[in-house]
Amino acid sequence: MSIGLPLAFGEEPAMRFTCSRAGCADAATSAIRWRNPKIHSEDRRKTWLACDAHLEVLRDFLAARDFPLAVVPVSELDDAEDRDR
Ligand SMILES: [Zn+2]
Repeated sequence: MSIGLPLAFGEEPAMRFTCSRAGCADAATSAIRWRNPKIHSEDRRKTWLACDAHLEVLRDFLAARDFPLAVVPVSELDDAEDRDR
C-alpha cells in the first residue's frame, strides 16, 4: 500500500511513526505524551502517535479525562526520548 506522504527522516523508515488511532494507517505527525495519574507514577509517560486528522480526537479523549498531556511533533520525539534516558 502506498501512502505517498512527503515524509523524509533521513535513513529512518518514513512509516516508523504510524497514527495510534484504531484503523488508521496514516503517518503520524504529532505525538501525545500523557499519563493517567491514577495508574501511572510521576515519571511514567505513555505516547500516542497521531496523524493530522486524528490529533484532536485523541487529544480530546485524554483531555476529557483530565490526564496531563503534551503534544509534540514526531520530529522532536526522538530527541526528547533520547535525552530523557
Ligand atoms: Zn490517524
